[in-house]
Amino acid sequence: MHIVILGAGYAGLRAALDLDTLIQERGATASVTLVDQNSYHQLVQLLHVTATAGHDSREAIYDLAPLLSESGVRFVQGRVVAIRPLAREVHLADGRALTYDRLVIALGAETAYGNVPGAREHTLPLRTYEHALRIRDHLRARFAEAARVSEQRQQRILLTTAIVGGGYTGCQLAGELAAWADDLCAETGAPRREVRIALLDRSSLLLKQFGPWATREAERTLDAMGVSVYLQTTVEAVEPELLRVSDDRVLRAGTIVWAGGIQAPPLLRESGLPVDAAGRALVDRYLRVRDQALIFAAGDCAAIPDGPNGATVPATASYAMRQGIHLAETLMAEIAGEPPRPYEPLKLGELVSLGPNYAVGNPLGVPVVGYPALLLKKGVESYYRATIEGPLKGVTL
Ligand SMILES: Cc1cc2nc3c(=O)[nH]c(=O)nc-3n(C[C@H](O)[C@H](O)[C@H](O)COP(=O)(O)OP(=O)(O)OC[C@H]3O[C@@H](n4cnc5c(N)ncnc54)[C@H](O)[C@@H]3O)c2cc1C
Repeated sequence: MHIVILGAGYAGLRAALDLDTLIQERGATASVTLVDQNSYHQLVQLLHVTATAGHDSREAIYDLAPLLSESGVRFVQGRVVAIRPLAREVHLADGRALTYDRLVIALGAETAYGNVPGAREHTLPLRTYEHALRIRDHLRARFAEAARVSEQRQQRILLTTAIVGGGYTGCQLAGELAAWADDLCAETGAPRREVRIALLDRSSLLLKQFGPWATREAERTLDAMGVSVYLQTTVEAVEPELLRVSDDRVLRAGTIVWAGGIQAPPLLRESGLPVDAAGRALVDRYLRVRDQALIFAAGDCAAIPDGPNGATVPATASYAMRQGIHLAETLMAEIAGEPPRPYEPLKLGELVSLGPNYAVGNPLGVPVVGYPALLLKKGVESYYRATIEGPLKGVTL
């Protein structure tokens, strides 16, 4: 049996590594091919740190070749452009086609601009390693330019960063940028007093998945760091260096980052797969795509039922990784002709950093803030690294 896994992110890489281990342990006859457009695995949940030069940029990526070198997983680098379920084929941008017996779609998510005029053209997204490097370089260039101009108004525009979206991405980026501003001004000669960071969200809550306590904590922390939070503020249009927001207000900013939403890659819908409004593949309790016996989906590109009220499992790295682990087991069952086990989302809680010294979260449902939350977040990160490159590599989780 040939299993093809699309996307070497949290869900796809984990599925490939664990499935390979299971195949070897059970001496099964099956081959695994992992496909990604990049030659590296990105730690997407660290990209706000990369975008603000908070670590050596290589810390956010791993070359896939060494990660896979001791496994039997074959890696194919290429951009997937179409899936043909009837022919059991995956098509790549360079014209190659791969055939499969079972397919896993774990292609993550893209930025959603919600039809806001100018948003796609005039803002910077933060979903990939390349995006993070672009934001970092753009900020450096803006600050350096501000050091060269003499007019105060122009300096202020160049040194204003507007971040649209108060979820994981927006809050974490705002916190890291606030912490970087001192060093960036020292490095470029930009006047620190003119630096502004604005975080905008149309809802009345930041980090709404955690509830009002986290909003209060995040607002208080970000405010103390110099971030201006604008809630119930809808961005209606974007022009070069300008945001038009509700009540006819205008905000000028030399850097505008769009963290206002995500959607699955359009190729899922274009390939005729059943998808929800965000383009995510509709899957059943086994992560099998509806009406597709041979195709599974996991991570941000899958709409996975969570409870009876039509809710879906949150799009986070921890869920994606556990779905990858679960799919490895499911695929092993398919190879062995055994019945699969349904996926039950394990609610371990989430942790969000607000700058390099602070975090908020709800591990195991318990609200935790400050340094303890940050230590837990670092612990989770180290654990993840150990599962792909360190002492836990090769251990089926
Ligand atoms: C800045 C930021 C901070 C975040 N912080 C946290 C956090 O603190 N905690 C948390 O749990 N979650 C966090 N998240 C969310 C988390 O990163 C995602 O939920 C997670 O990455 C989803 O994993 P995935 O496997 O579905 O997709 P990804 O990890 O994004 O992997 C998708 C893979 O598919 C590949 N791919 C995509 N399209 C194609 C194509 N057409 N052809 C070939 N390959 C393709 C990509 O290159 C990528 O390797 C954060 C997200 C961002 C952007």
